[in-house]
Amino acid sequence: MSKRDFYEILGVNRDASDDEIKKAYRKLAMKYHPDRNPDNPSAEEKFKEAKEAYEILSDGQKRSAYDQFGHAGIDQQAGMGGGGGGFADAFGGIFDEIFGGRGGGGGGRSNIYRGADLRYNLEITLEQAAHGTETKIRIPTMEVCEPCNGSGAKPGTQPKTCPTCGGSGQVRLQQGFFSIQQTCHKCHGTGRFIAEPCKSCDGAGRIKQHKTLAVKIPAGVDEGDRIRLSGEGEHGVNGGPPGDLYVQIHLKQHAVFQRDHNDLHCEMPISFTTAALGGEIEIPTLDGAAAIKIPPETQSGRVFRLRGKGIKGVRSHTHGDLMCHVVVETPVALTERQKELLRELEESSRDNSAKHNPRSKSWMDKVKDFFAE
Ligand SMILES: [Zn+2]
Ligand SMILES: [Zn+2]
Repeated sequence: MSKRDFYEILGVNRDASDDEIKKAYRKLAMKYHPDRNPDNPSAEEKFKEAKEAYEILSDGQKRSAYDQFGHAGIDQQAGMGGGGGGFADAFGGIFDEIFGGRGGGGGGRSNIYRGADLRYNLEITLEQAAHGTETKIRIPTMEVCEPCNGSGAKPGTQPKTCPTCGGSGQVRLQQGFFSIQQTCHKCHGTGRFIAEPCKSCDGAGRIKQHKTLAVKIPAGVDEGDRIRLSGEGEHGVNGGPPGDLYVQIHLKQHAVFQRDHNDLHCEMPISFTTAALGGEIEIPTLDGAAAIKIPPETQSGRVFRLRGKGIKGVRSHTHGDLMCHVVVETPVALTERQKELLRELEESSRDNSAKHNPRSKSWMDKVKDFFAE
């Protein structure tokens, strides 16, 4: 998936000032915020896109990496960050936070965050992918802790404003001539300080649980396709909206077919005699058996195309094809009698081998030429 240029997303020039970038982002964020567009999924995509662009361009270091190396510069940085820890790690790696860190709402002081998007890797068979299926997935989730109602403070007590940062979650550090804004170490950016943590959740305010979700897989999905379950991602922080859950499709290896986009390929071994004399072969397709007529003198490697016996892609209107690759099988475990018959066959065609084995003949001629030079 190719990503759009961050400057283009925000609609600013490459030399835009920090202030211009902030203003452009605010405008887009207001316009496309998921809370304001509950029935418009494309708005949410735009919101995320703008948020990501802003996160990079509002950070001097990341912006210059992006200016120099484009998206690759950013991805590299993200890769070196060693993962955000937290949720993804806690559950054994089936989840990844797709969209990286939780960006706050621009320059605002609020500590309201949208929950992170999550990814669930789902393995399905080729048949399920071709025909569509419905399945249930069980996913770990963080639910609001009931005893403390999500505050993280021991029931009956309240979290206090963080004394170090005064509740903003950020502290300013003076370094030489520069003043640097950093996340407050005492409260980790929450702005709150809990004197007596809730025992059920250890002060986190949330508890790990599991939920079961029904997922509808549309017919035609392919490796790497993603199905979005809106609002089933990680919970928002301090009342922010939840993230989304992306179910990413992986196809199991099939015993007979290999898939190439909407086409299927399979190997079709035929006997040496069928190859020479012709015949009919029954082959499997995803919708039952089909017959292929093998003409006489069929060579190994020939491909028979069965139109429309492939897969109908999610976004396409026609079916792909099924390609059967002929493999002529050399007979094995022959009896003495069978060997005798083959020798007889060989002898009978020796005098006229150019006619019966034209390919071998032409190859032998080339080899002779090669040594003659
Ligand atoms: Zn609690
Ligand atoms: Zn603090």
